[in-house]
Amino acid sequence: MTFQGKSVVVTGAGKGIGRATAVYLAARGADVIALSRSAADLDSLKAEIGCRTRTVDLADVADTRSAAEEACPADFLVNCAGTTELDGFLDLPVETFDAIMAVNCRAPLIVSQAYARDRIARGAKGAIVNVSSVAALIGVPEHTAYCASKGALDGMTRVMALELGRQGIRVNAVNPVVTLTPMAEKAWSNPAKSGPMLARIPLGRFVQPAEVASVIAYLLSDEAAMVNGISMPVDGGFLIN
Ligand code: NAD
Repeated sequence: MTFQGKSVVVTGAGKGIGRATAVYLAARGADVIALSRSAADLDSLKAEIGCRTRTVDLADVADTRSAAEEACPADFLVNCAGTTELDGFLDLPVETFDAIMAVNCRAPLIVSQAYARDRIARGAKGAIVNVSSVAALIGVPEHTAYCASKGALDGMTRVMALELGRQGIRVNAVNPVVTLTPMAEKAWSNPAKSGPMLARIPLGRFVQPAEVASVIAYLLSDEAAMVNGISMPVDGGFLIN
């Protein structure tokens, strides 16, 4: 796969899967436009791959919209930024629910609208990958808001694929199981919690960020020219168990 001469917006590019995706795409020739919250993370990414950067708080509607519009035009978009907090269902504050939905589902809506409007205005084709999770498809204890946000993101992905597909823009999701990033550290560092997850994965290990990045790159590329509207697990077989 080559992305020579192609530009790709990656949200959440400062750390974890988003960073691995930016590095993977840049290594294959892409001009990356990295959006994330931390200027320090973006500076270190820029030093590594020479990308364009824009700090943004994706929980903020106006900031998200202006960052997305500034990032255009771009050939492709990866909505990767995400967040989580651990709360039992009965104790989940509505403010936490709203904050997680804002970053994990509303921000992909806003960024994708700006990206797709620009592609359509130019008469150009495109592709979007939304980074979802196996949590869209199963219940995970203490992840009410996170599961709701990823289920919503998969639903939105299908409607985007229906409507934008007719305009030549393919839209798909990737749904990783536990992936070894700072977010996974927050949710899964307790072996009592991570052990049962690991035991359900036939391939016997958690995912490396680069193993999600390569699937994202495939879904963006012409190799996946007729793939539209799917939620693709990257889970070592977790969901068949
Ligand atoms: P991470 O916490 O390691 O990195 C997330 C990145 O998003 C960071 O650069 C962070 O600064 C950015 N970000 C978060 N909130 C933001 C905001 N409000 N504004 C701007 N940027 C913001 O996370 P990760 O593990 O790499 O997760 C990336 C995506 O993959 C998320 O959507 C996550 O839900 C999904 N995912 C992760 C796992 C996992 O186990 N790590 C599994 C399945 C899906």
